Amino acid sequence: MILPRFVQSPLLRSAAGVYHAFLGVDPVPGRGDAGRLRTVFSVPPSRVGTLRQRHTATVLEWEEGDAVPGGEGRRKGDALWTAIPGTGVGVRTADCVPVLIVLPEVPACAAVHAGWRGLAAGIIGETVRRLGERFGPDAIRGLVAAAGPSARGCCYEIGEEVADLLRPLPGGERSLSRGGPEGKWTADLAALALEGLAAAGVPPGNCETAGPCTVCSHAFHSYRREKSLTGRQLSFIYSTGSYP
Ligand SMILES: [Zn+2]
Repeated sequence: MILPRFVQSPLLRSAAGVYHAFLGVDPVPGRGDAGRLRTVFSVPPSRVGTLRQRHTATVLEWEEGDAVPGGEGRRKGDALWTAIPGTGVGVRTADCVPVLIVLPEVPACAAVHAGWRGLAAGIIGETVRRLGERFGPDAIRGLVAAAGPSARGCCYEIGEEVADLLRPLPGGERSLSRGGPEGKWTADLAALALEGLAAAGVPPGNCETAGPCTVCSHAFHSYRREKSLTGRQLSFIYSTGSYP
């Protein structure tokens, strides 16, 4: 039997009208993201948008032409959102944090790529701010989000310079620990993403982490563990168009 290597967030599963998954290593060699969306999730890959990720705080709205097949997307950015039923958004990560978001009352959904550079650039707060600008503060209070498989505090060693950039962020102190060697720290990127959501006005009970640390779980790609051989896993959220 082939084990499906993906995880889901109970919070996002309970939100009406969206399908989502944080995909891991594909048990079917060479299948590719598009084939996996079709065969495992019955989601049309031509309706799921991704971006050319650049560790920025650039937030874009879904467009025709952002479709998922192949590697990178067409437009540069690190968060993509859609309010069109029958469309979805995704991000590709190895140790960076994939954050999937739904605003159930709109309905709208978003996918965010948040590594340490993106977190330091403010991608989380910027995404929530842009969604709030478009859909209002009530929609943000109802926002539900999950931070998927990513590098956690057990494994993610960083140097003093990166620690200095992360420390001023919301929850920065709490998400950093002294590492083994002198001048080294460990950072919990998923925890930083959740702190960013809370600081942007999302109720803490509406956010959770889903899945393991990518570095020490072999079900997920990890840049730290695999080095140059690293694949990237797709995390997606898709609006079915059938809301209550
Ligand atoms: Zn770990």
